[in-house]
Amino acid sequence: MGHLISIIVPCYNEEASLPYFYDAITAESDKMSGEYGVEFEYLFVNDGSKDKTLEILKDYAQKDTRVKYISFSRNFGKESAIYAGLQASRGDFTAMMDADLQDPPALLEEMYEAVTKEGFDCAASRRTTRKGEPPIRSFFARCFYRLINKISKTEVVDGARDFRLMSRQMVNAILSMTEYNRFSKGIFGWVGFKTKWLEYENTERVAGETKWSFWKLLLYSLDGIMAFSTAPLALSSFTGLLFCIVAFVMILIIIVKTLILGDPVAGYPSLVCIIFLVSGVQLFCIGILGQYLSKTYLEAKNRPIYIIKESNTEE
Ligand code: UDP
Ligand code: MG
Repeated sequence: MGHLISIIVPCYNEEASLPYFYDAITAESDKMSGEYGVEFEYLFVNDGSKDKTLEILKDYAQKDTRVKYISFSRNFGKESAIYAGLQASRGDFTAMMDADLQDPPALLEEMYEAVTKEGFDCAASRRTTRKGEPPIRSFFARCFYRLINKISKTEVVDGARDFRLMSRQMVNAILSMTEYNRFSKGIFGWVGFKTKWLEYENTERVAGETKWSFWKLLLYSLDGIMAFSTAPLALSSFTGLLFCIVAFVMILIIIVKTLILGDPVAGYPSLVCIIFLVSGVQLFCIGILGQYLSKTYLEAKNRPIYIIKESNTEE
């Protein structure tokens, strides 16, 4: 008997694109089953959709035994959906892909070859272009990748999609990372293993709309930085040190000046500016500290990463 491949598909309000996705993935699966004798299971994770996504999934599950669905009690976010899918997956290999066909299913064959024949633990995809994306968004994305790779020891690959196929060993490694603040791109890099990168050009989603606003992406990138780097904390201590040195030099200058020139009263405006500057920097640094504290607070609560309302998987 051939390998079992689990395909995890996080779905949030995807009623418009699901039919296209289902057609495409079943066509690809049938092709691969014929070619390699592999079997498939699809793990659709309904992340608290407000449209007909769940009904569509249930409908598929009735006609097709490969279809498994897990439905959350509310919207927990894509990261939680991925984690739930990984926990439920039983495959020798597990892939994850978006429901909007931005991840071309045809790449699965190449990925499967990479992990079975070429000795890789994982085959992942990255897009080489950001066609169809607002230029300002691309610009900030590039800055983010450059920054996080400078300040974090974990490699985060620019343009990497979550679309990838992984060995059971790597899936288990990811499952062992039970943190609440999940940043997949960092987690994949952190666990290591040999990854083959497949490149393709960006395609636009087949239907529906992207769930990411610019603001959401910005917050997400900050989460990513905090999850995989403590550089901002180091930055705030460094700024503190720098300001101490500057203050010390200024004190010396003032003492010397007073001794030589006497003590003329002056400099009120500059004093006000300095107070504003210094207290601004202080608040900024406390803010950074607070961000880390709040993350620690959430981790310490040890809340579940997701809550299932209904599903047709065994556990
Ligand atoms: N998604 C999800 N929960 C969310 C937001 C998105 O499960 O809270 C899913 C969504 O249904 C899709 C995938 O994550 O399958 C990627 O979302 P989207 O296409 O909006 O992101 P983009 O491709 O624009 O980065
Ligand atoms: Mg998409």
